[in-house]
Amino acid sequence: MRLQTASIVAVGSELLGTRRLDTNSLRLASTLERWGIELQSKSVVGDSVDALADEIRRRIERVDLVITTGGLGPTTDDVTRGAVAQALGRGTYRDESVVEHIRGLFASFDREMPEVNERQAEVIEGARVLRNDWGTAPALRLDVADGTTLFLLPGVPKEMEKLVDAHLEPWLESRLREPAGLEQRVLKIASVPESVVEERIAPAYERFGAENLAVLASPGDIKVFYRAMGIPIARRSRLDLMGEVLRNLLDGLGIYAEDEEATLEQVAGRKLAEAGRTVVTAESCTGGLVAQRLTRVPGSSAYFEGGVVTYSNRLKRELLDVPQAMLEEHGAVSEPVARAMAVGARDRYGVDYAISVTGIAGPGGGSAEKPVGLVHLGIAGPGESPESVVHERVRFPGDRGQIRLMTSQLALELLRRRLAAD
Ligand code: ATP
Ligand code: MG
Repeated sequence: MRLQTASIVAVGSELLGTRRLDTNSLRLASTLERWGIELQSKSVVGDSVDALADEIRRRIERVDLVITTGGLGPTTDDVTRGAVAQALGRGTYRDESVVEHIRGLFASFDREMPEVNERQAEVIEGARVLRNDWGTAPALRLDVADGTTLFLLPGVPKEMEKLVDAHLEPWLESRLREPAGLEQRVLKIASVPESVVEERIAPAYERFGAENLAVLASPGDIKVFYRAMGIPIARRSRLDLMGEVLRNLLDGLGIYAEDEEATLEQVAGRKLAEAGRTVVTAESCTGGLVAQRLTRVPGSSAYFEGGVVTYSNRLKRELLDVPQAMLEEHGAVSEPVARAMAVGARDRYGVDYAISVTGIAGPGGGSAEKPVGLVHLGIAGPGESPESVVHERVRFPGDRGQIRLMTSQLALELLRRRLAAD
């Protein structure tokens, strides 16, 4: 059951006047804050059954926990029990064991219990009586519809504090300890070697324990998992701290997501959609893999205009306007050609961004100068000339499939970083 939001209602006409300040709610607010419960409202209501019933009805609809203080006394101006019963449409009954408890308290001061105090033994149907050893009126706890819980606490500040410690705190603890357990979060990084990540986060292993961190690497993709155990608020604040420390250690490597399922194509796609920009792909060695990945995301038609697979020099010329002389001078797998492909695609197809990829996926076709795994990538953004286009030259290890996959990963990561920089 969720327990995230609360309201405090201080009852007593004297709190509306000029002589007495509602300090009980401060004490209650600090308890709620410590437990990580968001206090949504504090209100002060006079000793009026209708006004209080109204307020109670409103609050229990909106929050998970409502705490009232005051108005549990024996006199007719103590209206909380009656107002809450009215708000919930419940009856009340006289609880003889409470009467006995109050009688006993008076007896301990060698006094007879005045008859009015019997009013304090009125219990709302379905309420749990919370024993009060510091005053006459017991506190009450009620579970109402929709999982909301109501606590009715007395108004005398010292007495209320005792009852907070005796009943509210243990209840919060029992509720929020469930389910105690393990929680895990993740930071995702693309196209960075695993060893670089390991080196960066080394201090975190020491600080948080190696068993609480795990690095999982797949081609071009690294997940840094971190975990904490315990009750929710404790482990969450621990995880917040760990996340902050890890993000600092990994600064500059480009965390692209903190959601295990998120992919680069989703993240880059979202950025394009948010910016209202469009993109095309111009691929050689990946044969359309970058385009395939971009279109895997539902709704990608909002930003992905299309792609060309230009395997041959002829199509690099005819579909991307790469000059023949450049192809002859540098070869198709080269920096100038990657730059020219990106700018050519962007201009030819009238979009904001173009991704270009040209490389040697192997296993054949490599040379000493241009080995298998060599890839040139380009990202042309709005208004960029071939010289200012983002370019990256890499040499990937592995077989053909792995090289193509890592190339597509880097292409999307370069696009993501380029978009993040805009
Ligand atoms: P009791 O059962 O002891 O009569 P009660 O629940 O009826 O307590 P009240 O009669 O409303 O409580 O208040 C008792 C005293 O506590 C009064 O002096 C009142 O001013 C003070 N008090 C009540 N509510 C608050 C509050 N929210 N902040 C500070 N003082 C309060
Ligand atoms: Mg009062």
